[in-house]
Amino acid sequence: MDKLPYLNSIFIEKGSENYRITQNLLSRYPWIKPKIVSAGSEAFWDLAKISADPIGEGKKRLFIGRQKGDFLKKCPGTKNMVCCNYYVLNLATQCSLDCSYCILQEYLRNNPALKVFCNIKDCFSEIEDLVRSRPNAALRIGTGEFTDSLALDEIAGFSNELVPFFLGRKNLILELKTKTTSIANLLKYDNASNVVVAWSMNPDAVIELEEEGAAKVKERVEAARECMEKGYRIAFHFDPVILYDGWEEGYKGVVDLIFRHIDARKIAWISVGGLRFRPSLKEVIRERFPKSRLLTGEHILGEDGKMRYLKSLRISAYRKIVGWIRAAAPSARVYLCMESREIWRKIFYMVPKCQEKPDLLFDGE
Ligand code: SF4
Repeated sequence: MDKLPYLNSIFIEKGSENYRITQNLLSRYPWIKPKIVSAGSEAFWDLAKISADPIGEGKKRLFIGRQKGDFLKKCPGTKNMVCCNYYVLNLATQCSLDCSYCILQEYLRNNPALKVFCNIKDCFSEIEDLVRSRPNAALRIGTGEFTDSLALDEIAGFSNELVPFFLGRKNLILELKTKTTSIANLLKYDNASNVVVAWSMNPDAVIELEEEGAAKVKERVEAARECMEKGYRIAFHFDPVILYDGWEEGYKGVVDLIFRHIDARKIAWISVGGLRFRPSLKEVIRERFPKSRLLTGEHILGEDGKMRYLKSLRISAYRKIVGWIRAAAPSARVYLCMESREIWRKIFYMVPKCQEKPDLLFDGE
């Protein structure tokens, strides 16, 4: 497995001790004596006092508790951007990796401990309710919104619960999105073709500076190949695309590497999306990642309140990356993430329908 995520303390919400996920986690850190607490806040209240970097420090503290609200939420999308109609399954928040552009640095600013929900079985009844309410829809559900889907998988064992639940349910698609090679649990199952294992892709030049703790690009492709051979479908997300001197060579190299090792027919989809961030993240990046190249480009503020590269730069980068993908795999399902209708038209000469079936994302209107 990837290196065991470093933890220096574990907090367990009273009543959560006997869940299987809790026991999995505790068994991997036998040298840490867990503290039983009555609320999650006890795991993080002092972080800002004891550390100049509460976000970094929070990644070393694990809180295990029960999800008392909904596990499942419809992805809210972004104002005026094309929505890819996705449901988010929230099994954990915070992440053991440390990407300079990670939105969680802001989102979890006041609550930065790693949090794992142990009552995973309760999410299945929510999914079944959703299926009943939309019997004719193919539903796409992902766990990688508030954490990396697999970063904690080998210690928590989420996919040992998820994959058997999703296996054979033809109207459900589970997407696990990662930058790791933590696939040991996935390799126990065969032919889970409605489970899509997705890797975020960047050249090593970006990974080294901006994605601390993440696997190198070759390792990601090798893990994807192993999953493909077990019958999973694979996805790749060129997101966030980061422009730097030599980016063309870097991203072209990643595209070539993918298609040298992965059968294009086994790829469910590929997304491309430029770097975007709220202006307030700038300060966090400067403080936590002084060597980052994220802030060196020219960015403008969009209608959704996020900074992006100039439109002309984005269009030129998308055309090149989509062109390299299409040259290698002419029928690959490629989409843009969080981009406007105008940019979709410039790249694909069409705008996707808002879909009931994920396939319709790739049909134009
Ligand atoms: S892998 Fe994802 S969730 Fe984890 S730090 Fe990086 S961007 Fe954030």
